[in-house]
Amino acid sequence: MRHVVIIGSGPAGLTAAIYTARANLSPLLIEGLRAGGQLTTTTEVENYPGFHHAIMGPDLMREMRAQAERFGTEFVAGEVTAVDLKRSPLSLTVNGEERLETKTLIIASGASAIQLGIPGESRLMGHGVSTCATCDGYFFRGKELVVVGGGDSAMEEATFLTKFATRVSVVHRRDKLRASKIMQDRAFKNEKVTFIWNSVVDDILGDKVVTGVRVRNVETGRTSELNCAGVFVAIGHSPNTSLFAGQIEMDTKGYILTKNGTATNVPGVFAAGDVQDSRYRQAVTAAGSGCMAAMDAERYLESREG
Ligand code: NAP
Repeated sequence: MRHVVIIGSGPAGLTAAIYTARANLSPLLIEGLRAGGQLTTTTEVENYPGFHHAIMGPDLMREMRAQAERFGTEFVAGEVTAVDLKRSPLSLTVNGEERLETKTLIIASGASAIQLGIPGESRLMGHGVSTCATCDGYFFRGKELVVVGGGDSAMEEATFLTKFATRVSVVHRRDKLRASKIMQDRAFKNEKVTFIWNSVVDDILGDKVVTGVRVRNVETGRTSELNCAGVFVAIGHSPNTSLFAGQIEMDTKGYILTKNGTATNVPGVFAAGDVQDSRYRQAVTAAGSGCMAAMDAERYLESREG
């Protein structure tokens, strides 16, 4: 039986692995279908402390993985396909066949930005298409940008992006925003932000990098092209928690609820990173909570085993 199993190989999972490995708990980490997590889809990461010349997202994740490996983390490629958190020890099935038992489990399976599913979006992701203004806004100094969405994220991203961009056009599918009043007011007051109402983006244009979008007015059906260097899709995130449905407490959007640090309502199960954080969603905050989960798991084991 394992002391610690970690689900997820983003900053939260790998930091939890580094800490539990150094605590001699011989962690086993199940990497998930996209090993390295969301950062493997970004280019330069300029806001992760310690890399003053920036580091490429995939390189940062390779470094973290090597660090976790150096202290003895065992890695399993693939995904967890079933869990049973109602029994002790906790039980997991990996890749549909291998069964594992563990005393503690750290869930760091992350979240996925919801995508529009339109032509050009996946192909140009990281080449003008982004789902994170904090991460990528800086690359668009002096450029024109489009933000898609009408919620708090879209308002926050649009307002933030005006620090760099000459103009930010918010494309929203209705004529009313979903965002809170304070966020709306902030965006409305900003002279660089303009709104394109009742409209959707049908196509992201560009060969190697984004050069524009095709916008369709949903009321008139009329389409037009808008030049821009970047498209920020801000239509929400979805935590990767369907596997745990009915077995662990979550909020209405599926984020795992934690208390006293990273503890969930199931004894021995801890959650770290974006899977339990809809607010900050940064690599550094995910890494921080991965460290917390490792320490919480270690203390839980100590309290049970003396
Ligand atoms: P959200 O509130 O769910 O808003 C998503 C927006 O995207 C909505 O305006 C929605 O349009 C639009 N949308 C959804 N699917 C779309 C599609 N396929 N095509 C075009 N538009 C689409 O998500 P969020 O803005 O990420 O916010 C999530 C939560 O985090 C909220 O509770 C929010 O308050 C919170 N948050 C808070 C802050 C803050 O306080 N600083 C910042 C960010 C987020 P409709 O309006 O037509 O549905």
